[in-house]
Parts: sequence; C-alpha cells; structure tokens
Amino acid sequence: MAKDSNKCSFCGRNRKDTNLLIAGIDAHICDYCITQANDILKEEFDGSDTEQFGNIELLKPIEIKNYLDQYVIGQNQAKRILSVAVYNHYKRITQPKSEDEVEIEKANILMVGETGTGKTLLARTIARMLRVPFAIADATVLTEAGYVGEDVESILSRLLQAADYNVGAAEKGIIFIDEIDKIARKSDNPSITRDVSGEGVQQALLKLLEGSTVNVPPQGGRKHPEQKMIQINTENILFIAGGAFDGIDKKIASRLRTNVVGYHNSKERDSIDRTNLLQYIAPQDVRSFGLIPEIVGRMPVLTYLDPLDKGTLKRILTEPKNSLTKQYAKLFEMDEVELKFTDGALEFIVEKAIEFGLGARGLRSIVEAIISDAMFELPSQKSKSQLKVTKVYAEDKLSKSNLDKLKVA
Ligand code: ADP
Repeated sequence: MAKDSNKCSFCGRNRKDTNLLIAGIDAHICDYCITQANDILKEEFDGSDTEQFGNIELLKPIEIKNYLDQYVIGQNQAKRILSVAVYNHYKRITQPKSEDEVEIEKANILMVGETGTGKTLLARTIARMLRVPFAIADATVLTEAGYVGEDVESILSRLLQAADYNVGAAEKGIIFIDEIDKIARKSDNPSITRDVSGEGVQQALLKLLEGSTVNVPPQGGRKHPEQKMIQINTENILFIAGGAFDGIDKKIASRLRTNVVGYHNSKERDSIDRTNLLQYIAPQDVRSFGLIPEIVGRMPVLTYLDPLDKGTLKRILTEPKNSLTKQYAKLFEMDEVELKFTDGALEFIVEKAIEFGLGARGLRSIVEAIISDAMFELPSQKSKSQLKVTKVYAEDKLSKSNLDKLKVA
C-alpha cells in the first residue's frame, strides 16, 4: 500500500514543512533527512581516509631523517630541515583544537638546488612515509586564470586524483611544486606590464599556499557524473616547492659581500665556502631573484641541496633501498641471472653521467644502455648464469649505443 505521499518516511515531517520531498518507490525523503544522511556518509567516509592512506604516523624528526636516509643520499642539511618542518606540520594538523588560542601557522617549504639533486625525491619520499596523497605540479605550465595554460587550481585536481577523490585525504596531502623559480618576476619593477606567467601566477598560487577554500574541477575523466566543482580547503595541505634558481649564487655572493664588508672582519669573509654558496641562502636572495615577498613569506622553511659530486653519484647507484643496481639485479634475478657491477664499471657510469651533464637523472639511461643487450639475450638462456659488468664491458656497450652521442659539446 502506498505510504502517505505528503510526509517524509524518515522523520515524519509534512511536505509543507520541508523544502523538498523526494519520492522513492515506496517512501519519501525530505531535504533535512538527505542532509543528515549525507553527514553520516561523510563521517563514515572520513573514517575510511585513514584506512586507504593509513593513519598519519607521526615519526620524530630523527626518525624521519633516518627514513629519508634509506632513499636519498647526502643532502643532510635539507633532510634535517625537512624532517623538522614535516614533523611540525603534521603535529599541527593532528592536534586537537587548542583552547589557549595558540594557533600554529602552516609552514610550507622551499628547496633550492640544481636540477636532479633529489628535491622531488625528498618530497615524494616524505609523502610515502606518511602515506598521504602526493602530487607534483610543474610551475612552468601555470598561467593566470583566463590565459592559455593551466590554472593554479589544476594542481589541486591532481592531488584530488592522487587521493582517489577522497577530499578528506587530499586535504592532508603534499604538493610538490617544481620549477618555482620559473615563475619569478621577470623585472624588478613590479607590474609595469602584465606578466602572465610570472607575478600573476605567484599571486594565484599565494591563495593556495595561504590556506583557503578553492573550487576545483575534478577533471581527469574519472567516473564523476557531473563535472561540477569540488571544494578543497588547502589549509592543511603541505606545499613543498623546488627550483634550481640559476644564478642565485651571484645574489648570495653580493649580499654576503655587502654584509661582510659592512659588519664583519676579513676573517669571517675568508670563512665563506665559495664553492657552494647555496648553503648561505636566505629569504632575501629568493626575493631578489623575483619571487614576491608574500610567496617567500608563505614558505618560511627554506633549505638548499648540494650539487652531486662523483662520490655521491656512485653511492646513489648502489646504496638507496631501491637503487638502480638493486632494481636491475632484481629484474635479472627473475631470470636466474646474477647481475654484478665492478667498482670500475660504477666509476665509469658516474663519469659518463657527469660528462653528459645529466647528473643523477642520467644514471638510469646509462645503465639501461649498458645492459640492454644482456636483458635481450640472457632470459633465453637455459641455465643459471652470471653477468659481471666490468668497465671494459660497460665502455663497449655504451659506445655502441645511441647514448654516447649525447656528449655535451
Ligand atoms: P630534482 O627534483 O632535484 O630535479 P629528482 O629528485 O627528480 O631531482 O632526482 C632525479 C632522480 O635522480 C631521482 O629519481 C633519483 O633517482 C636520483 N637522485 C637525485 N638525487 C638523489 C639523491 N640525493 N639520492 C638518491 N637519488 C637521487
């Protein structure tokens, strides 16, 4: 028998007391009950955040650094600074609302260092450790809203996708903004002309860094019935920005010079390590490079990465938990081939990476080129075997590959 079509079947409200009464097969539901049911769903859903992405496990700074050490070689200063910043950030977002009104402000992070020195790797490793969603955004493709290119909100769409559209999880995620130096203001004179990809983007980005509620187009063709906007609050999203800031060493040097001449004696001037000026980086250098003061202010944790020398590159080949040599050894192991690299071969690979000007990023293509013949042939062998990559073997294989033509002129 049909139920009373003028009443909500859940709360019993009369149709006239509701804004909307929706009919089902054998029942009605009012807008109040829909809202309430939605809240219950949300609560349940939030609970599952923690399941999918794991409870944020708050390790102490020293433990965070130890974790990073397993995957990232060197970069001790950056690791220490990041460990503290990440610890504080997640302490801040996991703390219950305090009554003393001491509100800990968000501290986003800026890493300055040559390309291929491990900035992205550090950010990614932190996200993996915390089991929070992680997205990488390339600052160079961002433009001010209305111009060709991506709006800054697209960064959040990516995080949302990484979080599998779980808004609660995304709101605790980490976003790595790569090449932030490329949106530096082109001229020292603010806004004489419109600077579509520079200052305007910085202004737009500022909104996200500060923490605000942003309408995000879900995009990405996932099963989302209507492409309507999803609201994301960026207050607890940790932004880690990185950039090479080519030429910033000159700004550091000139600042140091004026400081040293002005206030210190020549002894201190001599104690400056001129081979790696990045270690003296300060917010004002980033400002004079062309990031607007507001952006610099929103990334109060500033650190640097060391350039990778030969020794570090060699360690990168073998030491990290998922180092290249370990990865390839595992691949070969599946075909019962034992893969070994001699020290001479490792040295050779590192020298080539430096020669090609590719840094750590080049290591993989070089190793790949050297063992690609073996990867083709060895799996068909009947018996167990061993491949020992010596310097001679490596030289021979590399000289026959296209890669050798990569030499920087
Ligand atoms: P960046 O973001 O600084 O340009 P990446 O983090 O993307 O550089 O590094 C490129 C690749 O080089 C990484 O995937 C990693 O394999 C390797 N690499 C770079 N620096 C390190 C490091 N310090 N320790 C281990 N691997 C590194």
